[in-house]
Amino acid sequence: MDKKLFEIIACPLCKGDLNYRKDEAELVCRPCGLAYPIRDDIPVMLDNEARTLTTDERLDGGEAPAASKDSAAKESASDDAAGEGSA
Ligand SMILES: [Zn+2]
Repeated sequence: MDKKLFEIIACPLCKGDLNYRKDEAELVCRPCGLAYPIRDDIPVMLDNEARTLTTDERLDGGEAPAASKDSAAKESASDDAAGEGSA
C-alpha cells in the first residue's frame, strides 16, 4: 500500500494521525481507541466498520514518546507528518 496515502489520511472522528499496523492491516487511532480495516488496499474510514481496540492495544506505546522500541515502526511516518499535519 502507498505510504503517501497514510500521510493524508486522518481519523474521521478526531482528525488525528493514524498508526498503520502492517501485520493487522489496520489503521489505528489511539485517542479514539479504534482500528480501521484495510480491505484490498483500501482503508475503510468508517467508524461503524472500525474495530474497538483492546485495553492492551490502547496501552501499547500509546503514552510513551518515541522510544527505542518504537523508532523502527515510525521511521517513515514521523518526519513528514510533523511538519505538514500540525496546522
Ligand atoms: Zn480518532
